[in-house]
Formats: sequence, C-alpha cells, structure tokens
Amino acid sequence: MSSAAVDARVTREIERLRQEVCRLHAELVRWELVTWTSGNVSARVPGADLMVIKPSGVSYDDLTPDSMVVTDLDGRVVEGDLAPSSDTDAHAYVYRAMPEVGGVVHTHSPYATAWAARGEPIPCVLTAMADEFGGEIPVGPFALIGGDDIGKGIVATLTGHRSPAVLMRNHGVFTIGATAKAAVKAAVMCEDVARTVHLARAGGQPLPIAAHHIDALYERYQNVYGQR
Ligand SMILES: [Zn+2]
Repeated sequence: MSSAAVDARVTREIERLRQEVCRLHAELVRWELVTWTSGNVSARVPGADLMVIKPSGVSYDDLTPDSMVVTDLDGRVVEGDLAPSSDTDAHAYVYRAMPEVGGVVHTHSPYATAWAARGEPIPCVLTAMADEFGGEIPVGPFALIGGDDIGKGIVATLTGHRSPAVLMRNHGVFTIGATAKAAVKAAVMCEDVARTVHLARAGGQPLPIAAHHIDALYERYQNVYGQR
C-alpha cells in the first residue's frame, strides 16, 4: 500500500477507536468499577505505533469520542486538546512490551483492590475463574505512578501467565486483552470473582479446584464456549 493509503486506513481506525474507547468507559461506570475520574481504557491503533486513551481528570459524563487522546507508544500526544490519562506511561509500556495486546484497562474496583491492598492473589476456587483467568489472579509489585515502574510490574507479572488481570499491590487492577473490549471484560470479571471469593472466605475456607480441572475449564472456555 502507498503511504497515503496507510494514512487513510490509520485515520479511519483512529475514528473508530475514539468511538469504541469512549463507549467502553461507560461500561466501567455501568459495572461500578470506578469512582469520580479514576480508571481508564486504552486501545492500540492497528497498523500504527499509536494508542487511543482517556483524557486526564475529565468526568465520565463529559467523555466524548473527540475528547479521547491519541498518543504514540512513548505516551507523547499526537492528536487531542487534552492531556492524556496520568496512567498513559503504564499503558504505553505494556503496548511496547506485549505486541499481542490491543487493549489495556485500569480500575480501582473495590473488591479486587482490597485483595491488592493485602498483596494477596485471588485463588482459583470458582469455575468462572478457571474459564477467564486460567488460575489465580496474581499480584504485581508496589510501584509509584510516573515513569515505567507500573508498566514494568504489569508486564513482569503477566508475561507467561494465563491471567489477563494483575492486582498491582496497594493500588488496583490492570487488565489486558486482544482488544479494548476484551480488557474491559477481564476487568468486570476480575471484580466479580474478587467479590465472590471474598464472600466465600467470610463463611469459611473456599475449596481449591484441581490443576487438571482448571486446565480443562480454561481450554474449553477459550476454545469451545460461545458462538463460533
Ligand atoms: Zn490507579
């Protein structure tokens, strides 16, 4: 393709992703994963070293496709009038390090973040967890915002792990997916299982699921479940 054709295609992708990333932020509100302006969604722009991400500090009610910010994969603004999310460096680091990732989500959803505050992985004691996460949801290191520390922690924890979610210690949840929608789904499911396992533990000791059963559940859900 000529570079003009590539540019036109990338422009169309950016327009599509502005709409999609804006709409997906409403899902974080709908599923009660965020408070005030916390939390963010981003999507990688296919065929370009760019991403579309939430602007910093803007109320969820005021987000529009046009207010989304386009940055390069070093977090520098390429398109948009607003400053990008304060978590942009972490998202950018993940896209640079994990080429298979097309979407990243961050929330402080309360039950999952309570596990993060204790630095405790969520054990795989539900078939729904085996399906979506393929095992426990791991804990990443303590890291301060700004620079690459959070991104490094996410990548180090999730590389070679089946879970698309990591509980960053004392902070909150980061999820990854092939698309932004898949990363949002992982954030919703992460909070759901964090709450259920919390409730289970309040009543006693949850029963573990045998590793070979976790493998079978994960395999079926990832490859057979749903509409084909
Ligand atoms: Zn945060």
